[in-house]
Parts: sequence; C-alpha cells; structure tokens
Amino acid sequence: MSAVVIDGKAFAAGVRIRVAAHVARLAEEHGVVPGLAVVLVGQDPASQVYVRNKGVQTVECGMVSFEHKLSADTSEADLLALVRALNADPKVHGILVQLPLPGHLNSDLIINTIDPAKDVDGFHISNVGLLGTGQKSMVPCTPLGCLMMLRDHHGSLAGLNAVVVGRSNIVGKPMAQLLLGDSCTVTIAHSRTKDLAAVCRGADILVAAVGRAEMITGDMVKPGATVIDVGINRVERDGRAKLVGDVDFASAAAVAGAITPVPGGVGPMTIACLLANTLTACCRAHGLPEPDGLTV
Ligand code: NDP
Repeated sequence: MSAVVIDGKAFAAGVRIRVAAHVARLAEEHGVVPGLAVVLVGQDPASQVYVRNKGVQTVECGMVSFEHKLSADTSEADLLALVRALNADPKVHGILVQLPLPGHLNSDLIINTIDPAKDVDGFHISNVGLLGTGQKSMVPCTPLGCLMMLRDHHGSLAGLNAVVVGRSNIVGKPMAQLLLGDSCTVTIAHSRTKDLAAVCRGADILVAAVGRAEMITGDMVKPGATVIDVGINRVERDGRAKLVGDVDFASAAAVAGAITPVPGGVGPMTIACLLANTLTACCRAHGLPEPDGLTV
C-alpha cells in the first residue's frame, strides 16, 4: 500500500475540540449556549444509533441537546407543529430531522419548514440555492467534512480535476458545489455515466458517494489521486457483518496518493460538522463572530 490514510476519526476529534473551545468562550463571554434539536420519527435502528451519538457528542462539546422521539405513525400536522415550535424557540439554534422519514410524511415539506438559519443539515431549499450561488449558507455536513479533509491534505484545491460519483441531493450535488467553489474542475458521474472507469481515472480528487460496496477499484484510480470514500455499506464477509465503503480499499490504496478508510474516514466527520454547523448557526443568530475554518 502506498497511499497516506486520512484519519477521519482523529480529524473529527480535532474539529470537536475546536468547537468545544469556541462554545466555552461563547458561554463565558456572552452567556450564550448553542442548542441542537434532533427529531426522530419511528424506530429505525440505524437512525436511533445516529441520534444517540449526535446527542452524546453535542453535550460533550458543551452544547445543549434536545431530543424529540416521535412514534412512527406521527401525523404530518403534528411533526410540522413541532418543527414550527423549534423554529420559534430561542434556545434552539440547530434543528435536524433525522432522515429517512416514514413514507406517509412529505420529507421535502418538513425540511423546507425548518427555519433556514437553523437548518444545520443544509437541506432546506434556501440553503441549497445559497450554496449553488456561492453565498453564505448552512452547508450539508457530510460534504463539508470531506471538503475540510481535502483542504487540510492539499492546501489549495484550485485547478484540480475532481470527480464526484453520485448525484444525490445530500452528498453528491453539494459536494460538487463545494469543490467548484474551491475552483476545482468538477465532473459529476452517476448510474448513466458512460465508461465510469475512464472518467474516474481523470480525477486528482475522486469522491465516491454511491452506496455500492467496493465498486471503485484500483484500476479506476489515477496514480497519486486523493480518494474520499463516503459510502457506508453493510456486507457479510467470512460469515461476519462488516462495514465497507464504495471503494475497494486495498486495490485503491495501492494506487492513490491518499485515501479515507471505512470506517474511520468520512463518517466521524459528518457528526463533527453537524456540531460545527450548530455553533455557526448560534453565532449568526447572536451576531457574534463565527469560528474560523469550521464552515466555508
Ligand atoms: P443515493 O442512493 O441517494 O445516491 C447514489 C448515487 O449513486 C446516485 O446518484 C446514483 O446515480 C449513483 N449510482 C448508483 N449506482 C451507480 C453506478 N453503478 N455507477 C455510478 N453511479 C451510480 O445515496 P447517497 O448519496 O445518500 O449516499 C451514498 C453513499 O454514502 C451511501 O453508501 C450512504 O450510506 C453513504 N453516506 C454516508 C454518509 C456518511 O456520513 N459517511 C452520509 C450520507 C451518506 P443515479 O442518480 O443515476 O441513480
């Protein structure tokens, strides 16, 4: 293996330390404590784990965590009423509605009811538009985490060829916007892309956000490229459950210059960026200076 392994766990710990330090200063100097409200509808086991981790890390950073656990048959009207109440609550600076929502609930309607200034997931249509036009917004956590690691590794990204595989609203598209904002030449690939391997081989920065276990293999990676693996796939290997990314780590690491592992790469950065976004939202709400380097 020749690639540098980018340690997302360590990087995320560093982000959390910076967030906690800024939060402590806010409390001391301004008597302000950031608050994050997380809304979980239903019993999805993976979502329950995410929500628990978010709550624990929020409190560890000195912020207040408000958890709202609703039953799977919660009506849309009740969920909208809760979101509006959180919008109006001055103790709440960030609101996150855990996705996916049960099928009878209109996710777009719910997300677009969140006050855009409190939309720490960055999914509200206003934030999508602001990001797309290069204006100050709340930036989706997973792409923000990827960008932070890329900036740290490369310094300037200007002029690099970036290929993002995947065009979802929560990862692929905002990732591409962020890379464009940092002056990369960006290609977005998807399931209809012709000769994906050749497209990927043109990438100095290759971001995989597909949801297909180990589909990006070493022969698709340009020698020396930086590979960011967003994928989280549960597979069975040798009779045991295992988490793997969208990248075949062993073959890609033999060719790449740097690579994020799964687990321990992008995943930990997602929650760290949620905390950073909550802090940013709090600073903006109170007209206080935003922390350096924790948003774009
Ligand atoms: P989506 O299913 O919403 O999007 C997947 C994208 O991959 C689509 O744009 C799809 O193309 C494209 N795609 C599917 N098959 C192929 C293929 N054979 N070749 C090229 N492109 C293909 O997934 P998400 O963006 O939500 O998530 C992607 C991965 O990232 C998942 O594994 C998810 O678990 C993980 N994830 C990880 C996070 C983290 O914190 N680390 C956070 C969020 C997601 P098309 O549009 O044409 O269908």
